[in-house]
Amino acid sequence: MKCPICKKPVDPYSQEAPFCGDRCRLLDLGNWADGKYVISTPAIPGVDFRVPGTDYGLDEE
Ligand SMILES: [Zn+2]
Repeated sequence: MKCPICKKPVDPYSQEAPFCGDRCRLLDLGNWADGKYVISTPAIPGVDFRVPGTDYGLDEE
């Protein structure tokens, strides 16, 4: 397997897998924190906007 950050070959049994090491794992976390990855669901954890009996057109499924 390859590291998703730097594309270096990674030992899949490594503790750091799927990353090649601590550095790339932290870089990946940073990508999430910076909003570089798009999340299609509402960004408020634990809140479900789908209220039973209503339909505001927010459900994209
Ligand atoms: Zn890497």
